[in-house]
Amino acid sequence: MPHQAGEKGTRRPLSRWRVEGEGGAANPRRMRATGRVPKVEVTQSMHQPVSTPRFSIYYDYKVFPFQPPPELRGEQVRHPVTIVGAGPIGLVAALELARFGIPSVILTAERQVSEGSRALAYTRRSMEILQQVGVAERIARDGLPWQYGISFFRGEPVFHMDMGHDDDDRFFPATNLQQQYLEQYLIEQIEANPLVELRWASRVIGIDGHDDDGVTLRVDTPEGEYALRADWVIAADGARSTLRQALGLRMVGDSYQGRFVIADIRVKLPFETRRRAYFDPSWNPGNTVLMHRAPHDIWRIDYQLPAGETPEQALSRESLFARINEQLAMVGQAGVEWELDWCSVYSAYAMTLTDYVHGRIIFAGDAAHMLPIFGVRGANTGFQDANNLGWKLALVHRGLAPRALLDTYSHERVAAAQEIVDEAGKSTRFMTPPTRGFRLLRDAVLSLTLTQPFVRPLLHWRTSRPHDYVTSPLNTRGDDDAMFEAGPRKGAVLRNIRLGEDDFLFDHLPAGFLVLDFCEDPAVAPEVVDVVQRWRDRGLPLSIVAVRRQPGEVACADLTIAAGGTSMFDKYGANGLPAVYLVRPDQHVAARWRSVSGEGLDQALRTAMGAGSKEQCS
Ligand SMILES: Cc1cc2nc3c(=O)[nH]c(=O)nc-3n(C[C@H](O)[C@H](O)[C@H](O)COP(=O)(O)OP(=O)(O)OC[C@H]3O[C@@H](n4cnc5c(N)ncnc54)[C@H](O)[C@@H]3O)c2cc1C
Repeated sequence: MPHQAGEKGTRRPLSRWRVEGEGGAANPRRMRATGRVPKVEVTQSMHQPVSTPRFSIYYDYKVFPFQPPPELRGEQVRHPVTIVGAGPIGLVAALELARFGIPSVILTAERQVSEGSRALAYTRRSMEILQQVGVAERIARDGLPWQYGISFFRGEPVFHMDMGHDDDDRFFPATNLQQQYLEQYLIEQIEANPLVELRWASRVIGIDGHDDDGVTLRVDTPEGEYALRADWVIAADGARSTLRQALGLRMVGDSYQGRFVIADIRVKLPFETRRRAYFDPSWNPGNTVLMHRAPHDIWRIDYQLPAGETPEQALSRESLFARINEQLAMVGQAGVEWELDWCSVYSAYAMTLTDYVHGRIIFAGDAAHMLPIFGVRGANTGFQDANNLGWKLALVHRGLAPRALLDTYSHERVAAAQEIVDEAGKSTRFMTPPTRGFRLLRDAVLSLTLTQPFVRPLLHWRTSRPHDYVTSPLNTRGDDDAMFEAGPRKGAVLRNIRLGEDDFLFDHLPAGFLVLDFCEDPAVAPEVVDVVQRWRDRGLPLSIVAVRRQPGEVACADLTIAAGGTSMFDKYGANGLPAVYLVRPDQHVAARWRSVSGEGLDQALRTAMGAGSKEQCS
């Protein structure tokens, strides 16, 4: 039964409440982190993850079975790639690898999807990545799209944020959907994919061996332990990464003083979907409250703990209920019925490893970086890791590219995380001022916004966005990038374009490298076709996409886009002049020219596959 505000009780039994840190998952076993290849002594009995469904008032948790793998029967199996962790990033990484034909085994300690809504808001770029692995349509169908934010200071609206959305965007700047659904959709996609095997209740407890040839993991299961051998391991085992600890790796960056309660309640509120931030609210003076709407009438309320309060105190029933009622009263909804689904406490971190590739173990997602969730950075940053890593690991594993290509994964993604760490410092200090001085300054800015419009943009903390790899060693030097006045620059991600009523450029792009050829010719230049064919013969996934104003097939193109009445020529800087883009499999531009020779394209492909990267990454 729902509860009247202020009533006692919740459907969630108090005994099951627990205070969580980032990552949410149960504590991994403590490991010795003494060296590069520690041998972990096993002291616990067989791993038995929780097998009763987690509590939720809107989501039905499914408990997946443990299926004994061949290794437990004594069979020796060698896997090309093993992914540790079935959170959003491990799951997307597996599907990315599968797009390039690489099989993988995912190991996860749990038997269910994540507890609580966690990564609630997916950015447009995340949706574009999720489209490539086949789940964006379901998320868009079930999620709540949004574009705007509103900030209040002492009850007065002071700033309206617009994240921008135009006719060429298939996806809104953000789509809200609870993380359980995202994971479920990815798992269903994986279950339908013969290249991915997902092993539930399989906790990695250590590294038995790690050399230039591969990695041997020790895995604990309900039926005992086994050793698993893989050529490559992706560590996507979350913020408390067992593998990060096993390798003794430390993150750099900051952790911030402010702690937040996160509470998901079911309540009917008459507000549309947008981010609502309340600075210095009457019931929580000096602190900040955020509200986000999610499907199934769930509202997430995040509020900062008053200084000196412990997480246990903050999650006590009296405190939680009183504060939620105060917030509801403050937004004009006193007395409304609501019920609690999930609550937790989190701290704001902005930290990253300085290198994501350690021998044959490669870090991604929260295992690689811990980022503040203001600006929805956690999962959204991780999707870009998986998108960047998938094709690179596939090409290296297939012997098509040198190992140095993997160093560029680290080079590009550490730079992206570092940029977020630097920016996050500003937004986090605004949200949770660490000192009296910061608070005075913050409040002065907020006070001024009531009368001075020029101050208002200071309230706009940046949301997650794709990182432009402008300094990437994979970019070709000496191309014609500087001659373009429009279009995605070298290192940037492609721009989606509306081609019809429910038809967009990104709906059509094949997996692999792309040559985007803009001109009026009825055929692709023969020297381009020759180079493309030679690389394909070696096994490289590479397609020619011809963009023309007129409809009709273009000779030697794999795909022709009839861009006649669209803005595509303008938006790619090809209005009146020809243009050729070389695009990486993660949709970032590696080079662009006004016209390209066969030799120029061949060299750019070599560069984009890591030739010459070693020196630049070291
Ligand atoms: C309270 C809270 C609120 C959040 N809100 C947001 C938000 O609004 N927006 C946002 O973008 N992000 C948010 N996040 C962050 C977001 O949830 C994470 O960034 C995201 O889940 C990272 O995905 P991941 O796959 O890297 O790690 P996780 O989702 O943590 O997954 C880790 C996986 O590894 C498995 N695992 C761990 N150890 C082992 C082991 N030893 N052996 C085998 N498997 C193991 C776990 O079972 C799990 O499957 C929030 C996080 C929390 C805790």
